[in-house]
Amino acid sequence: MEITRLKGIGDKTARLFYKLHIETTDDLVGYYPRDYECFAPPSDLCDAAVGEVAAVSGCVKGNIATRHIRGLSITTFEAVCADGVLHMTYFNMPYLKNSLKRDTQYIFRGVLQKKGSRYVMEQAKMFRPEEYGRLIGKMQPLYSVTKGLSSNAVTKAVRQAIEVTDLSEDYLPEEIRQSEGLYTYAEAVRQMHFPDSRDTLVKARERLVFDEFFLFILMIRRMKEDNALLPNRCPMIAVAETGRLIEALPYKLTAAQRRVWKEIEEDLTSEHAMNRLIQGDVGSGKTILAFLALVMCAANGYQGALMAPTEVLAAQHYETLIQMKKRYHLAVSPVLLTGSTPAKERREIYERIESGEADIILGTHALIQDKVVYHKLALVVTDEQHRFGVRQRESLAQKGRDVHVLVMSATPIPRTLAIILYGDLHISVLDEMPADRLPIKNCVVDTSYRDTAYRFIEKEVAAGRQAYVICPMVDESEVSDLENVVSYTEKLRERLSPSVQVASLHGRMKAAEKNRIMEAFAAKQIDVLVSTTVIEVGINVPNATVMLVENAERFGLAQLHQLRGRVGRGSIQSYCIFVSGRDRPETMARLKILNESNDGFYIASQDLKLRGPGDLFGIRQSGDLRFSLADIFQDAAILQKAADHADRILAQGDLPADEKYAPLRQRLARMATNEVDFRTI
Ligand code: ADP
Ligand code: MG
Repeated sequence: MEITRLKGIGDKTARLFYKLHIETTDDLVGYYPRDYECFAPPSDLCDAAVGEVAAVSGCVKGNIATRHIRGLSITTFEAVCADGVLHMTYFNMPYLKNSLKRDTQYIFRGVLQKKGSRYVMEQAKMFRPEEYGRLIGKMQPLYSVTKGLSSNAVTKAVRQAIEVTDLSEDYLPEEIRQSEGLYTYAEAVRQMHFPDSRDTLVKARERLVFDEFFLFILMIRRMKEDNALLPNRCPMIAVAETGRLIEALPYKLTAAQRRVWKEIEEDLTSEHAMNRLIQGDVGSGKTILAFLALVMCAANGYQGALMAPTEVLAAQHYETLIQMKKRYHLAVSPVLLTGSTPAKERREIYERIESGEADIILGTHALIQDKVVYHKLALVVTDEQHRFGVRQRESLAQKGRDVHVLVMSATPIPRTLAIILYGDLHISVLDEMPADRLPIKNCVVDTSYRDTAYRFIEKEVAAGRQAYVICPMVDESEVSDLENVVSYTEKLRERLSPSVQVASLHGRMKAAEKNRIMEAFAAKQIDVLVSTTVIEVGINVPNATVMLVENAERFGLAQLHQLRGRVGRGSIQSYCIFVSGRDRPETMARLKILNESNDGFYIASQDLKLRGPGDLFGIRQSGDLRFSLADIFQDAAILQKAADHADRILAQGDLPADEKYAPLRQRLARMATNEVDFRTI
């Protein structure tokens, strides 16, 4: 059912929901909270932690004053609490002057700050005591929102959606549900949105995480044939060209790179088609291995394709390859095909691909469109594999007949999990960094350090270097204390010397615009790039030496590590500054793990250890394995169980015709047609 049929959702509100990709009541039911708010009884000021959300009871006294500064209205007043005075500030809420009752008790809930010896709260929520009393002990859902749409509005819509949706059909076979002690689907959905308690929430999440893994595994197992045993229909021989390239490179391959290259070369010449995953931390040098494979493929008279998740990255690979071709006189004919390739050029490229004249094809998803017909595709490489859906990778592979498959990923996942997730792929681990790298210097700081950090960035820029600044959000939303790209860029322009060129980049920009900015950054026309995490994927600008991450506490450590991988990609000393919006000791301790090590694998495991299994709704560990709730690290035990059940069922045949599997079959069929594509593998 369309969301516009719900109460309180007109066209205007609906458009805000569309921004969140919510169009139907089903979408709402599956739009899980990003967090929950727990209402604790009000505390005294001296008992509340500074920097944390607190609820304090206070009486509004004295003058309620409103000032206007540069179009912003600022309303301030004092609330007298049992053990002190709380100074309240509100922005753009001038009506408070009339609506607030003086000499009346309110509960103020917000982040408690201390400025000098004064207790301060900004934009605190206000409740009458009886109203607050009713909320104590309850967990209220908090949804990710967009400007103009409050979490409350989403809550109301979800409540209605759950009422009108029939949740009674459970696709999960009863036997599995029983044996794992899982909630029914209906119970899980209700408790996920509106938990009775923390315990029911944990159970609800467990069931929904199980679902995600179970369906995912069934889908990939059914889609893929047993690739490891496919015959090699595109046999190759080792060629001198690759050895020559390795010799000519300005650097020496690491031992790990040499080992993995040997494995690839053996695969391509063996009896079976290659099906290999290269797992290597950011900066370990995966690209050159892909290029070597592509060069070998071309020298054998075949075509090879490399698909990257973003245009920026595809273009970068193309540039690198063109440079190599020129410098080392490689006998290859590469082409670049992306969504923004102009129509005329695109037609020419299609022809060159179809005729076989192009032998190395680089690009984005554009490579798997129907119009692209390959001449004799023998090898497909996907870079930053975790960014693609399973289906997308398979589509590329199906452009040829039993082609060789090479996938590259920087996501450090434990081997046992990799086998569950990637099935029959052979795994090569690049566990060594190029020798010329200086370890990145890291620091974890609070917001008071910002100015020092800005001066540092200016200094590096003056020395000819560049910097990234990462913020968690695109534009201002209800969650206003998070730094966001758009306003941050403005602010930074004011704070940095005018000679420093600052630009912004975020996921909502058009691809062509993103390309333009990335190119300008690579060409050093931009000194400081303020970005969301779109930057984390594969970008290689070795001249960028500083990364400053705002609200670092909002990111999983593994993701921070990926982000950090954008600097330290050359022989120049690089720096990473993690700014935490919270100075709680636990938060700082967690972030400081990043200081201890530059090893992605170690970081992920330490993070997990520190947070412990109870911390279910904290930060997602893996920013890029796109399950909506599940986390492959944290939920490894559930993943294993889901895999066991999936295998047990499939062992009886490709989803046995049994009546009890009927809803499951339907659900999988629906997933296939809805083009739901899991982005994991
Ligand atoms: P990633 O594994 O993150 O994809 P890249 O392949 O982009 O890393 O490599 C990062 C940088 O390191 C590139 O500039 C590349 O030229 C360089 N590089 C790759 N291998 C080596 C090596 N063995 N020694 C020195 N530099 C290398
Ligand atoms: Mg890469």
